Amino acid sequence: MTLLFRRERGRLPAGTAYIAGRTIREGGVVVFPTETVYGMGADALNSAAVKRIFEIKGRPLDNPVIVHVCSRGQVEQLARDVPAMGRILMERFWPGPLTLVLRKGPAVPAPVTAGLDTVSVRMPDNRTALSLIRQARTPIAAPSANISGRPSITSFEEAVGELDGLVDVIIDGGSSRIGVESTVLDLTSGVPSILRPGGVTAEQLREIMPGLTIHPAAEGFTVYRGKAPSPGMKYRHYAPVHSRVLLFESQPGLEEAMIAKWRQISRSGRTAAFLVTDETEIHTGTVVRLGSRERPEEIARRLFSSLRQLDRSGVDYILAEGIGEEGIGLAVMNRLRRSAGKARGRSPAHRKESGSSP
Ligand code: AMP
Ligand code: MG
Repeated sequence: MTLLFRRERGRLPAGTAYIAGRTIREGGVVVFPTETVYGMGADALNSAAVKRIFEIKGRPLDNPVIVHVCSRGQVEQLARDVPAMGRILMERFWPGPLTLVLRKGPAVPAPVTAGLDTVSVRMPDNRTALSLIRQARTPIAAPSANISGRPSITSFEEAVGELDGLVDVIIDGGSSRIGVESTVLDLTSGVPSILRPGGVTAEQLREIMPGLTIHPAAEGFTVYRGKAPSPGMKYRHYAPVHSRVLLFESQPGLEEAMIAKWRQISRSGRTAAFLVTDETEIHTGTVVRLGSRERPEEIARRLFSSLRQLDRSGVDYILAEGIGEEGIGLAVMNRLRRSAGKARGRSPAHRKESGSSP
């Protein structure tokens, strides 16, 4: 049985954080809102509880989870020798969508870090999440709440639809404010490196760390093979269950290419819908708008819910428009490329469209 805490007139029932916090302390699994996406949390210091998250999600055991904290003190519990840059970044970006990969301390059980000697930590910028961690009186290990491989969850309704009956508690936090996950920044290997682009942009981080590097896999092309610095890179992710995503990278002639593909699919007796920006002149068939190219934050916020909406509609193909990689655009493109699940093409022609053809 799953206990649902629903908001009424914008407020959660009294005692929500207390009861959910106790659930965490007793080894339970709680789905809760953060500013990025919904998380599926358990006591980060309880190995059995964390293992349950992997079982429920069907998450590969070698993919570590992020530990969510409500204080800097909890970081000391989890990590050893936090570098000076780590402290500066916490000061500047916490609470917020920045995850720091640090050297792991002895208290962190192996399932959390998938056996790595590093641990990733962040402080979410969400009142419900913070009071949950406070009430639980323990750091909370929480990957994104979706079943492994699917688009992340950004609303209470999606969480209930996917997880009712599978977890102990689901807490309503309305629509996620940022809509894509946190930026994962590795501080353990000499040069700071973005392993996954997210809510804090590379531009923001470069103001503090001009030498910052972006790991090649962070672009989202290819499913990373071999020993990945961030195991999540290896797995297909963010993919709708029914629909296939075909991604059209931002370029001149985009509309014609997308419409031609739509016609080809329609002729073959299958269905396709468009997922495009407000500026794109396509008015054929089903068109879902992500928002304006001028406001990539809005596109990020709507990305996962739009993919889920189209998937639920049962269309065979989602023809998705790519956007520029400035700011949070890089995180959006990482998610879109991975949901299309295709390698970078060998020729420029291949780059136009990733995802398999019908
Ligand atoms: P998710 O929980 O679904 O947002 O995924 C968390 C992401 O953080 C995955 O891509 C993980 O591989 C990555 N991650 C978590 N812990 C570490 C770590 N210690 N080192 C590198 N990457 C990590
Ligand atoms: Mg995830």
